[in-house]
Amino acid sequence: MERKVIPYARQWVDADDLEAVAAVLRSDWLTTGPRVADFESAVAASVGAREGVAVSSGTAALHCAMSAVGIGPGDEVIVPPLTFVATANAVVFQGGKPVFADIDPETLLLDPEKVRAQITPRTKAIVAVDYAGCPCDYQALQTLARTRGLILIADACHSLGASYQGKKVGTLADLTVFSFHPVKHITTGEGGMVVTDNPEWAAAMRRFRNHGLSTDHRQRAQQGTWRYAMLELGYNYRLTDFQCALGISQLAKLDAWVARRQEIARGYDAHLADLPGISLIQTPPQVSHSHHLYVILLELKRLRADRDQVFQALRTRGIGVNVHYLPVHLHPFYQQHLQTRPGDCPVAEEAYERLLSLPIFPGLSDEEVFQVIEALRETLEEFRLNESSPDATMRGLDADFPITAGLGN
Ligand SMILES: *Cc1c(COP(=O)(O)O)cnc(C)c1O
Repeated sequence: MERKVIPYARQWVDADDLEAVAAVLRSDWLTTGPRVADFESAVAASVGAREGVAVSSGTAALHCAMSAVGIGPGDEVIVPPLTFVATANAVVFQGGKPVFADIDPETLLLDPEKVRAQITPRTKAIVAVDYAGCPCDYQALQTLARTRGLILIADACHSLGASYQGKKVGTLADLTVFSFHPVKHITTGEGGMVVTDNPEWAAAMRRFRNHGLSTDHRQRAQQGTWRYAMLELGYNYRLTDFQCALGISQLAKLDAWVARRQEIARGYDAHLADLPGISLIQTPPQVSHSHHLYVILLELKRLRADRDQVFQALRTRGIGVNVHYLPVHLHPFYQQHLQTRPGDCPVAEEAYERLLSLPIFPGLSDEEVFQVIEALRETLEEFRLNESSPDATMRGLDADFPITAGLGN
């Protein structure tokens, strides 16, 4: 019998979203029309930033940010290892070198002390990744960036709707990047945005997303001219008007969706905190977490199974668990091109061996949350070692690193 799997993430699209898209499809502007600027202003206003630049993906948004701040050959950018590959790839796109700084074992967020240790005269920027939806230690990172003359970029693809010390994600770094992929908080199918208070960077990013041209199609139509000049090398990273219409419609629901994610996370916390065989990630007190992911850490010393066996057992029980992420420096590309090695970021590597993402998305029902909890309870019981067994000390962290295929973002 085919059992329906509860996915780890799922988009939510309502009738009013469909209508918003259809209205644009019936209009004169399918791309580079009025909805683009509307979506940019709506996102910027919702996070309290001056400027928003809409682009075709979160990855394109990261690339725009790297270009705007002038990352180029010879420049180093400090990034955490526990993130989607795009965070580091964007540095490589510009000819720069990502330098991996390890994470904190309690929060799995970039550790400011490890960042400090990686700064060299070539360092130009730091990318903070708000892993799972939890804002990084921005007070420490801002101080570090300011005192060392570095640009702070937030990869906030997980943390739209989160805040830190009462300030929204979007105002905590020099530039902040969002993704609107269907697994993220709101979706445009594919899509992304950079928000910043710096109008020059915003103008540079608007050129960069449009081949490096001085004006866009709509501006030329309004000026009654065909003339344009290519000022620098750019790309086609534009987001369409119908996608922006979807984004505007989705944004209106963000607060309710974040509240539901937080409710689900509280449910998991309450039922999983004392479950032998796993531990939970710590949330610092000064943050409001937007729970893109709900990640648990297996206590491998108490189990006679590794993470992949627990993953399989849960999948068999119909729970669409996932793994976020194989640390970026362990991917073959980075090992070959940057000579990164296992052992470079031991905290992230140990966490990777132990972590699993449980289903969390606004449409997940209470009943499904309990199904996940029950399946996890059963699986851990099945694999739990008798605590006095000598085997218990044999398992552990010295397993070699299976370079598993990417499981998607
Ligand atoms: C999703 C994601 C990206 C890339 O976004 P896309 O829209 O898929 O290109 C980058 N960084 C992180 C941390 C992400 O989760």
